[in-house]
Amino acid sequence: MASTTSKENIQTALKMVTDKMTCSAGKRVNQALPKPRLVAVSKTKPIQDIIAAYEAGQRNFGENYVMELVEKSHEKEILEKCEDIKWHFIGHLQRNKVSKVLMAPNLYMVETVESEKLAEAMDKSWSKNKLERKLDVMVQINTSGESNKHGCEPENVIKIVEFVREKCSNLNFRGLMTIGSFDHDLTKGPNPDFQKLLECRDLVCKETGIPIEELEISMGMSNDYEHAIELGSTNVRVGSTIFGARHYPNKTVPNESIHANGDVNDIQSKVEGLKVE
Ligand SMILES: *Cc1c(COP(=O)(O)O)cnc(C)c1O
Repeated sequence: MASTTSKENIQTALKMVTDKMTCSAGKRVNQALPKPRLVAVSKTKPIQDIIAAYEAGQRNFGENYVMELVEKSHEKEILEKCEDIKWHFIGHLQRNKVSKVLMAPNLYMVETVESEKLAEAMDKSWSKNKLERKLDVMVQINTSGESNKHGCEPENVIKIVEFVREKCSNLNFRGLMTIGSFDHDLTKGPNPDFQKLLECRDLVCKETGIPIEELEISMGMSNDYEHAIELGSTNVRVGSTIFGARHYPNKTVPNESIHANGDVNDIQSKVEGLKVE
């Protein structure tokens, strides 16, 4: 049974994270960047934890597994108690799962567009929802160059961004996302994957004419969100620091390997790498 972290613990952690975010934003070189948004990553956590965070004022939540997002977003209790919840899909999206994700109630943003084909499928699928608003999307970039990570190659980002802006009338391009390496040693300087994302942002801004302050950057997780914000991240995805360590009772891998190394095994790429697509 999924254990529920106590409401007090979640609310205390949320306050700590948002305070640290404000502090890091104050250290940015470019003070014109928007206030960073916190996406509370609730994957593997029960809906009671989501409700506890929502009651403390949190509105943006992230999930990276299609079925989990679909189930949680349709839960009666979530629909009743969390009317303004904003779901972010942050996992790898296969084209045959697009309509499932895009039908999730209160879906706010898909952060993981990585090809023109995927954007095209999403554009078509979103039009069927017949909503007034466009679907906000980010383009995910594989900044670390590791083959097991998802996201487009940095060389292809302009092409995909232009495709979304010019050919996908139901999608609203908001910015760029990356996961990057988790084990970067900050004493050696800024995370090069984050710097790579910022380079891509500058290029996209130059090519499209979008002002830097209007192009969002999604980078930073539990172990590096403060660093990411200082560098200019406008959207951090924080899970375990808010909801506690994740547990995977159904996995066959020994627990030790899951919890060692900052709980990285569940990150989309590592898991998807093991699955047959
Ligand atoms: C799980 C996950 C996170 C959150 O990771 P934590 O280390 O628990 O903060 C962020 N982004 C993505 C894409 C994830 O899959």
